[in-house]
Amino acid sequence: MNPLPRKLFATALLAAATTLAACGGGAAAQEDRAGISVVTSSYPLEFVAAAVAGGRAQVANLTPPGADTHGLELSPQQVGSLGEADLVVHLSGLQPAVDAALDQQAPAHVVDAAPLADLRGDPHFWLDPRRMADLGHDVAAGLTEVDPAGAAEYDAAAGRLEDSLTALDTEFTQALEPCRGATLVTSHEAFGYLAARYGLQQVGIAGIDPHVEPTPARVRDVVDAVRGRGVRTVFFEATTSPAVAETFADDLGAGTSVLHPVERVGTGQDYPGLLHENLEALRTGLTCG
Ligand SMILES: [Zn+2]
Repeated sequence: MNPLPRKLFATALLAAATTLAACGGGAAAQEDRAGISVVTSSYPLEFVAAAVAGGRAQVANLTPPGADTHGLELSPQQVGSLGEADLVVHLSGLQPAVDAALDQQAPAHVVDAAPLADLRGDPHFWLDPRRMADLGHDVAAGLTEVDPAGAAEYDAAAGRLEDSLTALDTEFTQALEPCRGATLVTSHEAFGYLAARYGLQQVGIAGIDPHVEPTPARVRDVVDAVRGRGVRTVFFEATTSPAVAETFADDLGAGTSVLHPVERVGTGQDYPGLLHENLEALRTGLTCG
């Protein structure tokens, strides 16, 4: 085992041991549980895997906090960790480096979230909490393959995750009900699942790739397209430059606001917290009836 995962696993082992001690688990059970390792490729997948794994398996994420998810590059150690993992959870098509490493390492147990990302071209399925709940059940099934004794625990954890994600979805549905049909102008087209789930019309100034800036002609075309639609706010991603969004907003006489694609997670941030911030930004920024 290479140094990085060993360190991660040591930390996780400590956490698992603490949990088990608190639950009164025996030493034998502790040994059993310590061995199962899950590697995820991006934060939203890590969030789901950690919730389902509970204290039974350790989850390590390939994308460091704050790093670029789409353009992730892997160290040789990380490539190796994919071959050593008991279960890999990834989204094929999102991160070319991970796809290539998986081809090379061919781990025995893999959960690919791709079936949950069926909007054409848009990988950001995790912005629809119900799809995240579905991933939770897929991860429970994957973990059960490698650790059949944990089946009931994984299943129960996926159920609890589904409950909390369903509650989050209900909150969005109710809060955005008056906004149905509103135009959601975003700097990049990363919010297709959010728009589709809650009845909004997404108009992206640029395409899906956060690294591609739109041409001035494209910006003019989009301004023309949304003028007269009552747009009050242009949403941009916290990690990208607000310059394009600001120019665009000026042209429209609108303001700007941050919307998280929930890929980069800072200290103290997590999936439910960022979704709540998104909901607040949408409630205050969209034109709702
Ligand atoms: Zn993205």
